[in-house]
Amino acid sequence: MKAIGILGGLSPESTSHYYEHIIRTYFERFGDYNYPEVLIYSVNFQKYVEWQESGKWSAAAEDMIKIFSALHNAGADFGILATNTMHKVFETVQTGTPMPLISIMDATGKQIEVAGYKTVGLLGTIFTMRESFYKNDLGKRGIDVIVPKDDEQEYINRVIYEELTRGEVKKESRARFIEIVTNLNGEGAEGVILGCTEIPMIISEDDCGVTLFNTTKIHAEAALEYALKE
Ligand code: GLU
Repeated sequence: MKAIGILGGLSPESTSHYYEHIIRTYFERFGDYNYPEVLIYSVNFQKYVEWQESGKWSAAAEDMIKIFSALHNAGADFGILATNTMHKVFETVQTGTPMPLISIMDATGKQIEVAGYKTVGLLGTIFTMRESFYKNDLGKRGIDVIVPKDDEQEYINRVIYEELTRGEVKKESRARFIEIVTNLNGEGAEGVILGCTEIPMIISEDDCGVTLFNTTKIHAEAALEYALKE
């Protein structure tokens, strides 16, 4: 069994959900305590927010390479970067890291293929929705990505950073998220990617009746799968 290295803290709220998903999914499947070993390196979130806002993606990539190398030295056999946004520099980080990393976009793309969808909506931070890394990655699988309107994107981004990453879940924000998912569905999205690891805290399929791809759960399960693989 391989040991999982998690680069977390982006934000701490979702990192704890990754850990829960890995442990609970293992236990549901096997019913014993032979969990894979998990190493978590929780970063200084403020530092990353500043790098994102000032466009210093290569400084962030350098830091992530250092962290994954430290996780590897501490015993991790492979790693996951527990956030969608920082996957903007996934290729650079993978190239500099001495162990394999599982991409959240790759794991999510596989699930969308299983569902057989060709057009999906994408919710996430402003970086994930506006920039092309997510769309390009899914595009390689022939999946089209549509995003909310500009004002909706700004709303989602504000709720992520001002509420969800602080552990706050508000009723009025949930109502607006449901509306945005419904709009995307009306525009042709067969399902919607919750492309920010905190968004599953505020919306579920029961709330909106649309298929949702929970990237936190999908990514955590892909890590578990890989840890158990021969
Ligand atoms: N967890 C978030 C994501 O999945 C955003 C936090 C961040 O990395 O800035 O994109």
